[in-house]
Amino acid sequence: MKYNITRRDFLNGMAIATGTGLLTPAELFAQTSTGVQQVVYPPTLTGIRGNHAGSFETMHALAWGGQKPDRHHKLDEHYDMVIVGAGVSGLAAAWFYQKTMGPDAKILLLDNHDDFGGHAKRNEFHHRGRTLLGIGGSINVDTPSDWGEIAKGLLDDLGVDLEAMKANSDEVALLNTTAENLLAFPGQEGKEGHAGHVKIRAKWSQLMLGEGDYKSAVRALPLPAPEQDKLIELFSGDRDYLDDLPQSEKQTYIESVSYAQFLTERVGLAVDTIAIFYPVPKLMFGPAGLRVSVMEAFYLGCPGMQGMDWLSDLTSAILGGLKAGSKSLYFPDGNASLARLLVHKLIPAAAPDTIGFDDIAASRFDYGALDQKTHSVRLRLNSTVVGLREIGEDVVTVDYVRDGKAVSVSGDHCVLACYNGAIPYLCPQLPESQKEALRYGVKVPLVMTNVLIDNGHAYSKLGGGQVTCPNDPYVVVTTAPATTTGGHQPPRGPDDPMVIHMLGVPSVTSTGSETSHDLLKQARHNVYATTFNTYEQQVREQLQGLLGEHGFNHKTDIKAITVNRWPHGYAYEYMSLDDPKWPKGQAPHELGRAQFGRISIANSDSEALAYLDAAIDAGWRAVAEQLAYTQRQG
Ligand SMILES: Cc1cc2nc3c(=O)[nH]c(=O)nc-3n(C[C@H](O)[C@H](O)[C@H](O)COP(=O)(O)OP(=O)(O)OC[C@H]3O[C@@H](n4cnc5c(N)ncnc54)[C@H](O)[C@@H]3O)c2cc1C
Repeated sequence: MKYNITRRDFLNGMAIATGTGLLTPAELFAQTSTGVQQVVYPPTLTGIRGNHAGSFETMHALAWGGQKPDRHHKLDEHYDMVIVGAGVSGLAAAWFYQKTMGPDAKILLLDNHDDFGGHAKRNEFHHRGRTLLGIGGSINVDTPSDWGEIAKGLLDDLGVDLEAMKANSDEVALLNTTAENLLAFPGQEGKEGHAGHVKIRAKWSQLMLGEGDYKSAVRALPLPAPEQDKLIELFSGDRDYLDDLPQSEKQTYIESVSYAQFLTERVGLAVDTIAIFYPVPKLMFGPAGLRVSVMEAFYLGCPGMQGMDWLSDLTSAILGGLKAGSKSLYFPDGNASLARLLVHKLIPAAAPDTIGFDDIAASRFDYGALDQKTHSVRLRLNSTVVGLREIGEDVVTVDYVRDGKAVSVSGDHCVLACYNGAIPYLCPQLPESQKEALRYGVKVPLVMTNVLIDNGHAYSKLGGGQVTCPNDPYVVVTTAPATTTGGHQPPRGPDDPMVIHMLGVPSVTSTGSETSHDLLKQARHNVYATTFNTYEQQVREQLQGLLGEHGFNHKTDIKAITVNRWPHGYAYEYMSLDDPKWPKGQAPHELGRAQFGRISIANSDSEALAYLDAAIDAGWRAVAEQLAYTQRQG
């Protein structure tokens, strides 16, 4: 099949396909130079984004083959602070450092991608005179009311008006627990060989806990009657599936047994049926969602607890939360707007006409202004750091590869706001125990795809809202947030073009014996090895299956596809089946983030929390460590 979609995945998976180990360093670094896309405005690029071609090959050569350039040309550049990683954590660290040290503090940010923001990635489309935005990675400002003072303070510094964000959004469909949404299963024969979907609209998250007419909803599911009977019993809360256990063993059971085992052994459901409970665990833990314990599943709102009297407080709390709805807030391009606000603060010339919060989503950044020697803060993209070391007690040297050239800069201080797993390769001089701790967590791979659609007629006939697809490549299909925050103009109605947002959890083969770490590594490999053609095929089939009966024709209606693949996605969060309970201060992320002289470690990995506020808090901690170091040095 051939479609009129720009493809920019010409190097997709190249390092894997050729095997970096077979190349000499000279060949390899020459090769990566071709992967650097010299572009003016990265947010509008389509095809494979996220961890795009050109961003990962240098680091893989180092991590997999121990290859790095023999020599680095020393640039005549010295900074007060060098920050590795221009995601939210690195950008926040830059802001905290500048805020403390003043506007003249010289800061360099280095990032291996062609855009800033890390996971906070913006996708931008232009079609029929409209600008459309998509969330390329990090989605929402999650429950900011619960944040600590540092992260809340940063929102204040950036002028983020949380009340306005609340008021500017229609009900956002994503993970909306108060609205009805569709549960969809491939099955019906559709047009031109695309499987149609059976779709049942209901308030599923509440029904599953026994609220509302769950019987009718379950009877509509394409499942054999005996399976439906068991689901109805499960949702009803009439049965305590652990009633044969003494009370003392019940708690141990829910913490040490997988939810899948509970559902198959205790509830008696078939393996195929239980897929309907895994969309939320997978969105929270990626492919490791298959390894949630009974307790973790209950906390995520999965059914089973409502028949257990001793968990009645938990059941009420979860149900109350589902009925109250989410307190999360959205920019139209997800948390990319926050990254943009930070860059605007740090390098005003990159967005000279931008006021701030009120127009951040609508503004166009000048990427040519990010790295100017006349500015105190410089942000250098397409730059993969391959090593850093303290020289004497006074200075840190940072080696990186950019456009095939190996160069180095120096700084008084360095913050590593990259991935924990990369740090042992960058700093081989760290103590072995610290390197081991840094390697412990496996980042959670995910795929976030935005599809530009010519008009919204088919989606509005579907009824709008979120579609949950337990058995499809994309677990959730929804619309980009319809919010005017940041000056964005969302589609005015179905005649306007729209963006469909699809959340994919990479598939893994599980025999049941793999740990969450095993599953995540397997999924990471799958994400790198999957080509754009395959992703495109999946998108077309799934959307045709969902929307075909409403007049959608993927060949003419799809105008662009942007696949943001995140092989190194969420920070690893500990799971009760596979991770010990460490004493306070002894968990791997706590041991791994120990300061090393003039080098401190930020990034959400260092907090073992895959959230914006964790990334911000980590940025502050790392800066505070370095400020204290300077004071100690006198
Ligand atoms: C798909 C997805 C959805 C998410 N949704 C949410 C959400 O809704 N709400 C929420 O709060 N959080 C969400 N998160 C979690 C998100 O990770 C954090 O909120 C936050 O954005 C992490 O920021 P960070 O700076 O710590 O890491 P990152 O964003 O990963 O930034 C680190 C940067 O360092 C770069 N880097 C790594 N190695 C090197 C090197 N050697 N040289 C140079 N640069 C390097 C990386 O490529 C990256 O650009 C989501 C994450 C993903 C992947």
